[in-house]
Amino acid sequence: MMPKASVTGRGAVLLGKYVACDGFDKARPLRVVTHVHSDHLLGLRRSLRKCEAVVMTPATRDLIDVMRSPLFLMRGDVKTLDYGEAFVYDDECLTLHFADHILGAAQVLVEDNEGVRILYTGDFRFPGTPVVEADVVVIEATYGNSSRVRHFREDVEDILVSLVEESLMRGPVFVFGYNGKLQEVIEILHKAKVGVPFVMPEKVFHVCKVCERYGMRFGRRLLLSQDERAQTMLSRGEPCVAFYHMNSRRRVGEGNGVRIFVSGWEFREACRRRGENEFTVALSDHSDFYGLLRYVEECRPKAVFTDNYRSGDAVALAKEIRRRLGIPAKPLPP
Ligand SMILES: [Zn+2]
Repeated sequence: MMPKASVTGRGAVLLGKYVACDGFDKARPLRVVTHVHSDHLLGLRRSLRKCEAVVMTPATRDLIDVMRSPLFLMRGDVKTLDYGEAFVYDDECLTLHFADHILGAAQVLVEDNEGVRILYTGDFRFPGTPVVEADVVVIEATYGNSSRVRHFREDVEDILVSLVEESLMRGPVFVFGYNGKLQEVIEILHKAKVGVPFVMPEKVFHVCKVCERYGMRFGRRLLLSQDERAQTMLSRGEPCVAFYHMNSRRRVGEGNGVRIFVSGWEFREACRRRGENEFTVALSDHSDFYGLLRYVEECRPKAVFTDNYRSGDAVALAKEIRRRLGIPAKPLPP
């Protein structure tokens, strides 16, 4: 008998008989994109060419339009699904469910003709992500190792705001992160009424505009980094916060103000000093180890597969799920 769920050697998460999530599989007519992070867009070009439908939330579609190009998705048949909306394909039913991770992120549930509920969580943060009850679960395992636990007593957002405010007294502040996380930081600073211009390159700006369409708020001070006013402010060392993709960290902001990196890979301290004018703040969009375990515990599945394609900790997580929760679990691909 065919297993209800699997993860292929190319990173496609297979659910039921028809669905492949976050990777291409030539035997599957439906492709689901859980969210826009690049390790979940594998083989998307091929899926657009070959699949009957490529399924995602409307927000994910809009983000791909700005992060790739508006033409990219026109190569195939994209079907947008709101959270909770059902898509019936032959004898199976597909629904997407909210995941707290990046705008548009979804968990994927397939119910087959035997009434078996098969779930892929995608990437998620817990709590914040509602538990979807299922019989078979494929779960992300980014922080699946028992040492990946955040024990901070302090509130990371408060620490970030204070660090930015203090640093602004000395000039511009540069924040480096991935799209999604950057917009979260902008929203945190806006809510905390940090009253300086927010400078960013075009792509980060366009992602912000999509986020605003879906209800995030950044205020009225977003400024393109090519803009003359932004250039002048940065060259004179005037206070502003500039937001850049992590990949620009070697090229931007050195010797000109304070540089802050936002990263989930920090477990000991909420804020770590990495140099004279450099800090890392532990802002994560993934569950830590206990969050992953609690999700499985509340979901009460009969079997779990941990995503061993995207994470080095899938083996450890499967072991801990068996040991601590008594639920059969194994890493896939093996
Ligand atoms: Zn992700």
